[in-house]
Order: sequence, then structure tokens, then C-alpha cells
Amino acid sequence: MSGHTECGARSIPGERGVGMKLMFIGAAHEVTGSCYYLEAAGSRFLVDFGMEQGPDTYENQPLPVKGEQIDFVLLTHAHIDHSGNLPALYADGFRGEIFATAATADLCSIMLRDSAHIQVYEAEWRNKRAKRSGGEIYKPVYTMEDAMGAIGQLRKCPYGSMIELRPGIHVRFVDAGHLLGSASIEIWITEEGETRKIVFSGDIGNVNQPLINDPTYIDEADYVVMESTYGDRSHGEVPDYVNSLAAVMQQTFDRGGDLLIPSFAVGRTQEILYFIRQIKEMKLISGHDFVVYLDSPLAIEATSIFDEHYEDCYDEEAKELVSKGVNPIRFYGLRTAITVEDSKNIEYDERPKVIISASGMCEAGRIRHHLKDNLWRKNCTVLFVGYQAVGTTGRALVEGAEKVRLFGEDVIVNANIMVLPGISGHADNTGLMKWASAFTRKPKKVFVCHGEDLVTEIFAERLKKELGYEAVAPYSGTVYDLMTGEAAEEAMPVPVKKKKAAARKATSIFARLVASGQRLMDVIYKNEGSPNKDLAKFASQIDALSDKWNR
Ligand SMILES: [Zn+2]
Ligand SMILES: [Zn+2]
Repeated sequence: MSGHTECGARSIPGERGVGMKLMFIGAAHEVTGSCYYLEAAGSRFLVDFGMEQGPDTYENQPLPVKGEQIDFVLLTHAHIDHSGNLPALYADGFRGEIFATAATADLCSIMLRDSAHIQVYEAEWRNKRAKRSGGEIYKPVYTMEDAMGAIGQLRKCPYGSMIELRPGIHVRFVDAGHLLGSASIEIWITEEGETRKIVFSGDIGNVNQPLINDPTYIDEADYVVMESTYGDRSHGEVPDYVNSLAAVMQQTFDRGGDLLIPSFAVGRTQEILYFIRQIKEMKLISGHDFVVYLDSPLAIEATSIFDEHYEDCYDEEAKELVSKGVNPIRFYGLRTAITVEDSKNIEYDERPKVIISASGMCEAGRIRHHLKDNLWRKNCTVLFVGYQAVGTTGRALVEGAEKVRLFGEDVIVNANIMVLPGISGHADNTGLMKWASAFTRKPKKVFVCHGEDLVTEIFAERLKKELGYEAVAPYSGTVYDLMTGEAAEEAMPVPVKKKKAAARKATSIFARLVASGQRLMDVIYKNEGSPNKDLAKFASQIDALSDKWNR
């Protein structure tokens, strides 16, 4: 490795030279596949290495070095779109440490194994087809050994402690309130007597979620790398989950049916358990002694991890319950189905029941067996509690499909299909603005990532307009010099499937227009209560503007 970069000269990423560099790899103008590459204080490291899931807009640039040349990884949280490529990094020779909070490390140990299982299963399935058609043999993205290898590199860091990882590199994990163990990561880098602080927001949580804390607001940074998933949207009024869920249960049991909840194993499942415990405690269901089956080995393991981390991760309310001897996510009548036999036996239980099973979008797992057994029954209810991606069985059901295909068979949909609205683990646009405005002095630059293409641009515009920040939404491959704050390499978008790159300029200017429109709405609300004469004048001006452009 040539370490001979002249002081002050630019070195390309990958060379172990002088200078602090940040390169954007994944979740750039996209939501999933979070990954950032840094070179600083003589180390090369990553923040997150997630898998891309769902629609893919742009190609991600590869890491500038081999896995074996990465010194360590910092991990914000366990979700697969942040952690899911770590086994691939291990397969590529990486043997450094992966620093994360204790709960994240524990959740990763089940989620990465589950992910490896899916990769291997998919490869087997593809290869069966390939054999029949004479196609090429497909190699899994990674194996169980790779996942176990990556899991073995996890190192647990407590929340709130400043840790010196290497000379010149200090980090601190603070609670991001998004998922058990989730963190924003503060990094202080010192080179030749100069220190820069960079904050990675991770996924920023919603407020008032059950069990976990609200996000931590950080008041100081030179640079911020920030998520923007809901950068253009508000969650609106907070629904009354407990009473809505109780109403669905009561109706279903009164009809003599069962309630099926396809749920995401980690996070969403534990929230539903929390609500059902409240429903039991408040005796909101009358006339039925019901049981609740948790039918997913992954969800059962995740629930135990929640139990173990009440001290470091639960909010005050949940801790208070624990101190009174109440486990907030367990209750009388909760059964777990671990083996396949356990799962099959559920249908022979005659009592009214709730079955919580994975996967959340009904694409795999035991939920598909329960759907086959129950979808044709008029008195049953299937209640969706999370986002359903386009093309999934869950989405088809939510959109009113009359039949769905399960295990090679068409199953008619007679059951009631319902949606419990709006439990989001993410802050909405107001929450994101609140998080961003907590910095007491303006950061030198805010990098907006982890949002859909246009949303990253809209949110960057809001940060500029309303907080006066220098905000940019970089594309994959962009490199910034953190010593100077200048772009060392500004990458152009590389659209997947050859969409036109020229769309970029149009996109960012349209984003400016949308942000202006959103600001206009804010200004309108600020004027509530102003004299009628002024309001009428304002309205006429907006109408005139609208008439001019409505062409
Ligand atoms: Zn997440
Ligand atoms: Zn995420």
C-alpha cells in the first residue's frame, strides 16, 4: 500500500493516505442498503453494511477496498437493510470487530442467521430450476458459516459511553428510539491535532412507541449523515391502537372466528404483545377466554432478547412495569409454538385465538399455512400491522384480492382483511426536523440519505430553507473530505436498468418546488388568527399564482 500521499494532496479512497474521507456507498437516494465507508486517522471502516431490499433505483458503487482491508465496522441497528451484508463482508475476508449496542448484537445473532438461511434456501431453489433447464449454478450471497463468522466479530458497546476504538477515533452510541438497541453514532476523529465530529443518525425513531425510548437529540456536530425515510410525510393523528385492536378481536371472536396477525418478528410482534397485554389487563374483551399463539421461532427468540434488555433499552413506563413484577410483553394465555408440530397443533385448539406469525408480508414462513387454513373462512380476520411492499401476498390481500395462491393452490378470500394503521418505527417529517434542529450551532454539512430518490432532495431543501443548513443528498460513489468539507468526488447517479441519468437535474429542481409548497402550507398555518383583511389578501395572491401556473 503506498502511504505516500503528499500532505494536502488528495488521495483516492482505498489508499491509506493522509486525510479524512467519507464515501457514500448505499442508501444514497434510496431507502435500503445503508453503508458508508470512511478513512480516517489511519483506519478504514464502515458504518453499517446493509442489504438492499425492494425496489432498486440506482446502482451502488462497490467498496473501494477488499473486505480484509476494512479495520472495523460500526453498526447502528439490527435491521437487515443496515446489517444484512456483514456476512458477505466476512466472506470477503473481513476479520475486524463489529461494534454495536448489546441489544443490536443479540438481535443480529438471530437475524443474520435467519438471513443466511433465506440466502441458502433461495440458492437451492434456483439451482433446482437451473438443473432442469441446464442454467448456470447460483451461489448463495453468503452461507450460514459466513453469518456465524460475522456474528463472532460483534462487540457490545454500552449506550452513552465514549469509547476510544483506535488512537484518534472515539465513538459514542446513543439511543435512536427506532428498534430495541438502535443507535445514532457520534464519531470524533483527530488527525494532526485537528478534530472533526461526525454524527450518523441511523434510523430515527417515532415518539411514544411502546417499550422503547424516544430518539436522543444530539446538540453538536461538524457533519451529520441523516436518514429521511418520511422526509416528505406526516404520520398524522396517533391512532388508539389498543382500542382498535380490541374492537377487531371482539368482532372476530363474536363471529366465532380466529384472528390472524402476519407480523414482523422483531419489533412489531413485541408491540402487538404489549397491546394485547394491555387489552387483557383492562379487560377490554367480553365473553371470550382467548389464547394468543406466537408462532414463529424467530419472533419467540426476539421476544426473549427484549426480555433481557429491559434495563438498557426500555423506556420509563416499561421499566416501571418490570419493577412491579409485570413483564410488559407477556401475559396469561400466551403460548409459543416452536416446533412444526406445535404449529400444526394450533388449529386443533378450539378456543378463540389470536395467531401471530411471520413473515409480515406473507411471503414466507408459517403464516402461509395459517392463511391456507383460514382465508376461506368467513368468520376469520386477517389483520395487517405493517407496511406491505408491492408484489407481495400481503399487498394483494390488502388491495382486495379475491383469491391468492398458496402452496400451489388457489385459496378463496372470504375472511375479513383489515389494517391496523400507522405504527411506524420512523420519525415523520416533523420528527426529523425536530431532530435536525437540535444542533446548537449549524453543522458544516448535512448529508441526507436513506430516503426515496425525490424525498432525499425534498428533505435537503427543507433543511436549507428552514434551518439554513448546508444540506446535500449525495449519490453512491460520492466522496467528501471531512477536513475541508469539500466534495472530493461528486458521483453521478447510475440508474438501474438504464433509466436516463439526465433526469437528475429535473428531479432536484422539482424537489425544490415541492419543498417550497410545503413551506407555503407552514406559513399559512402560522397566519391563523391574523386579521381577515390580511388573510384574504394572502389567499388572493396564492390563487393568482396557482392560476398562472395551472396550465
Ligand atoms: Zn431500521
Ligand atoms: Zn433503515
